Amino acid sequence: MTTIDISSLDPTHTIVVATGNAHKVSEIEAILSPSLPGVRFVALGELGDFPDPVEDGETFFDNALIKARAALDETGLAKAVADDSGLCVDALDGAPGIYSARFAGAHGDDVANNDKLLEEIAGVPEGKRTARFHSTVVLVERDDDGEGVLRGDGDCEGVIGFEGRGENGFGYDPLFLPVDTPGKTMAELVPEEKNAISHRFHALQDLRAKL
Ligand code: IMP
Repeated sequence: MTTIDISSLDPTHTIVVATGNAHKVSEIEAILSPSLPGVRFVALGELGDFPDPVEDGETFFDNALIKARAALDETGLAKAVADDSGLCVDALDGAPGIYSARFAGAHGDDVANNDKLLEEIAGVPEGKRTARFHSTVVLVERDDDGEGVLRGDGDCEGVIGFEGRGENGFGYDPLFLPVDTPGKTMAELVPEEKNAISHRFHALQDLRAKL
């Protein structure tokens, strides 16, 4: 990623996106920028090498807020967008939920997380493997009067397969078959197809409607 000098940015027309994932930044920008003309979206990683905050909230909203506030504290900018997402499996009472990234212990180990999920629902029959990806997106703005928060929420409904398939995406994509794309796992979709049905897409649409 290129490095941008924070002092060169106009704080009133800049939104820092609290993610290191360049794909998320372009997805967020594509959906929100028509409603925010003149605003420049920059990834936190383009502004410096900041430590990840501890995501110890109890909800997706809490954790999204933690990430957005950390980005504002670290950069001194006035507006930040952050998202928090995860997979909620009905047969596991909504787990792994906010613990999706660290379901199998090691943060971000997708293979171990997928193996653990398959193991935990091994005895669950086809009709009962319903699940959804959830995303909560927040836009936090600070000024002399304090802080304003807008949120958007979105889901992507589907079922958990019996084995992984597909090479695209990340996380639980190989095991998740969205109801919108019958017979295909999320990892078998090209990015444009995924972005048109994803939980993040729906959460961003929900946020955009509130701008
Ligand atoms: P984060 O909110 O982007 O940090 O996502 C938390 C975790 O949820 C990820 O590490 C993945 O395990 C899972 N997850 C979130 N979104 C997706 C997705 O679009 N596909 C697959 N897994 C996801």
